[in-house]
Amino acid sequence: MHGQLRRHKLLFLAAAEGRVGRRRRLEPNPSNRPPRESLLDPSFLDRADVEIILAAAACGGVVPATAVGAYSCLLARSPFFRHHISARPAGEKLRFELAELVPGGHRIGREALVSVLGSLYTARPPKVPPRECVDHKCTHQACRPAIDFVVEATYAASGFQIHELIRLFQRRLYEIVNIAFDEDILPIIIVAYECKLLDLLSHCIQNVAISNLDSTYLEKKLPDDIYRYIKEFCRQSSLLTESHTFFMDPDHESTKIHKALDSGNVDLVGMLLKQSTVTLDDAFAIHYAAAHCKPEVLKELLKLDSANVNMRNHGGYTPLHMACMRLEPDIIVSLLRKGASVPIQTRRT
Ligand SMILES: [Zn+2]
Repeated sequence: MHGQLRRHKLLFLAAAEGRVGRRRRLEPNPSNRPPRESLLDPSFLDRADVEIILAAAACGGVVPATAVGAYSCLLARSPFFRHHISARPAGEKLRFELAELVPGGHRIGREALVSVLGSLYTARPPKVPPRECVDHKCTHQACRPAIDFVVEATYAASGFQIHELIRLFQRRLYEIVNIAFDEDILPIIIVAYECKLLDLLSHCIQNVAISNLDSTYLEKKLPDDIYRYIKEFCRQSSLLTESHTFFMDPDHESTKIHKALDSGNVDLVGMLLKQSTVTLDDAFAIHYAAAHCKPEVLKELLKLDSANVNMRNHGGYTPLHMACMRLEPDIIVSLLRKGASVPIQTRRT
């Protein structure tokens, strides 16, 4: 009896100190994430039995390839991982090059990979962080960083064959297409095409077909099959917009100017301007050069001094916006020296 009382007293003291029962404190979690997701922290890499290697990135200097460590027992929801884990020799660490698994070999950032793996671990929908968004008033519903994140996560989910996540991301991207800028639909078209998300692909094509994106921009940014499909859709559609007249007329003066810029022949651009009524602004030539041409071609074009460097295109972008999306410092500097305005924000027209 005395021993039992002493045991109760010890239990009471332990409980009061928070060592047992409901008041027991958990070990501190420095990542501030649920315990299973915290296993994806770099500090656990050495203890993991699966390594997923992220491709190196080149952005302002080369960022070396890094790895995310994972646990085979927690990856088993994915048929892809289940297959490879079952075929692995006992005790051997599995290594995957992520670029080889992802449709089209697209680069996936660490945030998207960790989010998808975290969802596998916890069986909960992945969180969508507002990655790298510099607009403090942004709701991150359809800004480019938010789109890039969902697109990368879709590639990862597709490569890992996690079908419920693929369906979830497809629904999310479908909603984004309804509110995104026209230019920002293009990475969504490409992921829909490469991951064979046919409903999403059809939705994107219809939106791009009625957008004001010009044909040369689409031709350079999209896979040939998709470009041809949109072109045919435009031909047959009664929804032709001004910019899509390029599709109908391969000899359009604006197209000739773009082709001259492609070949770096700014003298020819000058001659074409003299021979027709089309101006550099009509052809969105500065936008085109900022998005697609070598820096020296844009520099020469700006010397013609006959274009508005702050004009918006049909999508609401200035040439400086195009240059910033391309991340080409020499182009950005040339535009700034010519008077490009930094505070102008993107908007729908
Ligand atoms: Zn945002």
